[in-house]
Amino acid sequence: MGIGYARPANHQKTAPVRTELEQRLRQAHPQLFRHLRVDPLAVPIGRGIETDDGWYELIDRLCSRLDEELARTPDPAFAFEQVKQKFGVLRVYTTPPANARLTGLIADAVGESRTTCEPCGATGATLVTHAGTMRTLCEACRPKGD
Ligand SMILES: [Zn+2]
Repeated sequence: MGIGYARPANHQKTAPVRTELEQRLRQAHPQLFRHLRVDPLAVPIGRGIETDDGWYELIDRLCSRLDEELARTPDPAFAFEQVKQKFGVLRVYTTPPANARLTGLIADAVGESRTTCEPCGATGATLVTHAGTMRTLCEACRPKGD
């Protein structure tokens, strides 16, 4: 026992944000999300939001700030292409490439993700590397026993 034992992966892998949360974001921010998967059952290709639930609030705040900026300076072509976690932090890809103000708002949200626990949303989280995977986790969400 012990040697070679594989720990359950629930604290290491990023699960997609829950469907109901994703639907809420889509309904609140239709322009931003119009290129991302509409219904995972109807449209098996394409992607939704590829982060865990704890970042929902910060993604929602980002979307509201982007919507405000787009209300001031409309850009009908602007939309998300990918919203995901990579190397433990939030990544947001858009089309067309965002202007400087939109880019700044995205950079602020990426900065927030560096201290926000991806599974639970607690602040004060830090980047953790475990089993080759990087994630931003609070003390309570970190894998135990290493
Ligand atoms: Zn946590």
